[in-house]
Amino acid sequence: MTLSWVENRVFSSRTYLLGLPGEAAWLVDCGCWERLLAQTGRDVAVQGVLLTHAHYDHIYGLPTLLARWPDCRIFTNIAGVAALASPKSNMSRYHEDPITITGENLVVVGEGGRIPLFPGVEAEVFETPGHHPSCLTFRVGERLFTGDAFIPGEKVVTTLPGGDKVLAADSLSRILKMAEGRELYPGHELRKTKSTI
Ligand SMILES: [Zn+2]
Repeated sequence: MTLSWVENRVFSSRTYLLGLPGEAAWLVDCGCWERLLAQTGRDVAVQGVLLTHAHYDHIYGLPTLLARWPDCRIFTNIAGVAALASPKSNMSRYHEDPITITGENLVVVGEGGRIPLFPGVEAEVFETPGHHPSCLTFRVGERLFTGDAFIPGEKVVTTLPGGDKVLAADSLSRILKMAEGRELYPGHELRKTKSTI
């Protein structure tokens, strides 16, 4: 399986692309997906999006993605479904393009859920709230996609609506245990000036 990513124009968030030659691809979060696909140089169809949480900088590419692939599925939890329906909750109303996504594209997943990606490859779902109630961490093989629940070298932000310090600390310790011996892929570019853990 190939993995590529792009640094997005909004808040340096990252969008990841998981692919197999000749197979449909999957995204983890959805920012500048057109640039990411162009970067891979392959003409792939995006089958679904694993959403680490429903904040603007991780979802702003969804409307154009759904226009391109109307059957694309977006995996999130119940809190994510609520936030995607509300430009206030998903913070898009503070940007130029308020985003409301509802309906059949959304698939609700939760702790222990497994999402088949490719033959023999699935994503395992872990609820890791604290930054936001919609925060999910996905394990695909030995890769862990943590969104904003864990960004090496950064403190988890818990000051936005829905943030919870106690839950964030609990999620962080779970993630650190899971991260042992695994590759970690966070929701933002790492600050190059800071040491990372
Ligand atoms: Zn973020």
